[in-house]
Amino acid sequence: MFKNLIFDWSGTLVDDMGPTLEATNAVFSLHGRPVMSRDEFRRLFRLPYSEFYEEHLPGIALDELEHHFRRAFAESQVPVTVLPHAREKLQWCSDRHIRCFVLTSMDRSTFEMQLDDLGMRPYFEETYSGVLDKRQVIGQLLENHQLLAEQTAFLGDMIHDVVTAKHGGVSSVALLTGYTHREVLEAQDPDWLMADLLEFRMLMEGTHPTLP
Ligand SMILES: [Mg+2]
Repeated sequence: MFKNLIFDWSGTLVDDMGPTLEATNAVFSLHGRPVMSRDEFRRLFRLPYSEFYEEHLPGIALDELEHHFRRAFAESQVPVTVLPHAREKLQWCSDRHIRCFVLTSMDRSTFEMQLDDLGMRPYFEETYSGVLDKRQVIGQLLENHQLLAEQTAFLGDMIHDVVTAKHGGVSSVALLTGYTHREVLEAQDPDWLMADLLEFRMLMEGTHPTLP
């Protein structure tokens, strides 16, 4: 099966929705927009986040929005945690010499801090963070590490992740552990739609109860 896995970060390996929602609402409040509930946020938020902000806060410079977002994110008291089954899945890959990478939109300094705070760095051969549009990087990632597209999957929780996988010619694995509802991901027709990384591990092991 897959020899290489590229993971999104937020909503795929870690749960950072609490501080992300707080920080997004802080930016919205600052510009006189009503705050969102967790469910509203899951329905509205999308990547590239530049497009999300242009839709909801048009005409405001992205670097200004990012500045306020990062400050509010850093000040949030809600912890970022490793999602259930994520660490086990990465250890499983490590034991089998399956090469793992990260491709995330999260800004580099926040990401690097989380990578160390959560003890996740050793699992990855290389990480790519601060990537606004992942479609523009996936081809280079495959080339940089000589990954064959047919041996590679990109796992993520958002439409942009499925679109990026298809753009890069790799298998798309959509996960329901993050920011996007099932029907929204289903509409993108990913190769696999999985509840979580345990289900994906069972698929790779050949122990999944319903999938080959
Ligand atoms: Mg994500």
